[in-house]
Amino acid sequence: MAKQETATIDTICNSVLSYYPEAKVDIIRKAHEFAEKNHRGQNRSSGDPYIIHPTEVAQTLAELKLDIPSVITGLLHDTVEDTSATLEQIEKDFGKDIAELVDGVTKLSKITFKTSEEKQAENFRKMILAMSKDIRVILVKLADRLNNMRTLEHLAPHKQKNIAQETLDIYAPIANRLGISWMKLELEDLCLRYLHPDAYYKLAQKVAKKKREREKHIEDVTSILEEKLKEYDIHASVAGRAKHFYSIYKKMERRSLDFDQVHDIIAFRIIVDNITECYKALGVIHATYKPVPGRFKDYIAMPKANGYQSLHTTVIGPGGERIEIQIRTQEMHQVAEAGIAAHWKYKEGKFDSRSRENVEWVHRLLEWNKDLADPNEFLETVKIDLFAEDVFVFTPTGEVKELSHGATPLDFAYAVHTDVGNRCVGAKVNGTIVPLKHHLKSGDTVEVITSPTQTPSKDWLKIAKSSRAKAKIRAFIKTQERERAKDLGKDLLEKALRPYERTLAKLDRSGDLIKAAQQLHCRTPEELYIALGYGRSLPEHALEHLIPKDELDVHKSKTAKPEEESFLKRVFASARKRSVSQNAIIVSNLEDVLIRFARCCNPVPGDNIVGFITRGRGVTVHTSTCTKGIDSDVERRVEVRWNLQEKGNIQRIVRIRVLSQDEPGLLALMSQTISACGVNIASANIRTTKDRKAIALFEVHVMDTGQLYKTMSALEAKKGVISVERVRS
Ligand code: MN
Repeated sequence: MAKQETATIDTICNSVLSYYPEAKVDIIRKAHEFAEKNHRGQNRSSGDPYIIHPTEVAQTLAELKLDIPSVITGLLHDTVEDTSATLEQIEKDFGKDIAELVDGVTKLSKITFKTSEEKQAENFRKMILAMSKDIRVILVKLADRLNNMRTLEHLAPHKQKNIAQETLDIYAPIANRLGISWMKLELEDLCLRYLHPDAYYKLAQKVAKKKREREKHIEDVTSILEEKLKEYDIHASVAGRAKHFYSIYKKMERRSLDFDQVHDIIAFRIIVDNITECYKALGVIHATYKPVPGRFKDYIAMPKANGYQSLHTTVIGPGGERIEIQIRTQEMHQVAEAGIAAHWKYKEGKFDSRSRENVEWVHRLLEWNKDLADPNEFLETVKIDLFAEDVFVFTPTGEVKELSHGATPLDFAYAVHTDVGNRCVGAKVNGTIVPLKHHLKSGDTVEVITSPTQTPSKDWLKIAKSSRAKAKIRAFIKTQERERAKDLGKDLLEKALRPYERTLAKLDRSGDLIKAAQQLHCRTPEELYIALGYGRSLPEHALEHLIPKDELDVHKSKTAKPEEESFLKRVFASARKRSVSQNAIIVSNLEDVLIRFARCCNPVPGDNIVGFITRGRGVTVHTSTCTKGIDSDVERRVEVRWNLQEKGNIQRIVRIRVLSQDEPGLLALMSQTISACGVNIASANIRTTKDRKAIALFEVHVMDTGQLYKTMSALEAKKGVISVERVRS
């Protein structure tokens, strides 16, 4: 459907009348006059009067057989942005529908895609939203972009590259997703011309050089095919054409081939009367020429997401060369060319707007938009969908599910139902059990294996390929993290309240809790817990709103700790994580439990220890003298002991504080002393006090208390050292 002649208001009206004979085209003429008047005096970069651009855009929309408001929007699309015309004026003259469409296109035009990734994501999201509200907006924008690409030669080279890249990234995939294949192909070829001019012109030259040879070949194959089909009483029209440059270019790129090595640059299309004839024709072709294995695709039984239907096959032709053949009916052909536009139906002189609700894609986009708050995630999600190739698999009952290329059982499970996805542990593919990360192939029959105890994890994001599955997994993880944060926050606050003899339950009943929450900009206590759990608010801060100031002050003066303590905390905060050792502890009567060492007392082999079961977090191990351990609920207490078989393999990080005179070289001396005891130092820090003392802090790896105490005594024996202490939190 390449552009033939210059569009005029007459060609537009004639096109519209050809598919909508009762159309009142006067309003289109009025819109053209309106645009012409407003753009008068403006020129395109080519020097042409500006009105040529909106006229061409409207012509394209008429060729897409769109409704009159869309065609009029094509004519008016630049008036609000570039002239003194206003939306109010357009609404007055052409109605609310058209004013809204023009507004949509104007807003879309203000979006540029060449800024930072983040901004691009947000822009893309806006565009998809505009499209999902009224898909005609994006169709007008596509027609606009097509004309801009066709006239790109008049712009400066850097602008050409920017616009072409944006077109290749965003607009060509959208045209493809909407099924408007001719537009996608034309946009891609134009992009290639400006993005890789060398490759483009070389290709153009080579294709042109063999033109006669190729035309002869097309003629020959066409007549052979026609004759064969006629032999079997199949009424068919056969056409052959060279493939588009961009698809040849991609093929060369993908397989690192030279042009001369790319043989199947010609594609043949057979159009028949009905679906039965499609398969009959396929049979004839395969009986005549040897099919290339793995190249047959049945998009009739399993249409693409954009509605495309056809049989595809590649055969070894009469001259031993590969020939690509597409077989389809006339209706399928229309859908293939016009895509979504072919679905537009007239209803009492108007397009049935409900038909666009049938475009599942737009609906899915809306759904993701609800799930994904982060624009980058949204962009990634949409990009996957735009570029994905399709895999078709079956449920055990024979239902077809369409998945993207590289899809795994997880994608399939989520395609069946969100709950099935969330509980998926694996799948049977064609009767054989496969792991979650197995790649599904078209034709596989997939049965999901679920477990009631299964839940999604972050790793699943690496396994899942489809946007739907990823969106659902992310949503689950977010909810779960929120729940965890809520529990943690509640716990933190409850503990912070203890010294003041208050409980959350009491504060909730008195109404003080909700008041405090609201003062901290949380709507509910739950929101406050979440904020505390995520660390967005601090418990001390919440206390200020829950406890009278005088009470807080009294408590603070009682518990004030020397400055050193908080310094210690800062220094060793990072060491805590590494001190977990799963094999170091044996828990009576329990196997495979998660072990955590309490931060308060930091036990080391040799210490007497006691364990407490913590809901959802396994067993926490305290020293038996630790006050926190003693305070814990007796019911949750379990017997634990050091695993002596692991003795020597266990390395625990312990903190030692050394108070000494401030003398040069002392840190080095102490480090040497520690190393001499066979102990590794994870970190060392030293600071001096006003009274010329030095406080050194060491994180050391020790096997047990024996090694620890030996090291401490060695330090204590050094000249200048005043005291050595094992630090507990
Ligand atoms: Mn424009």
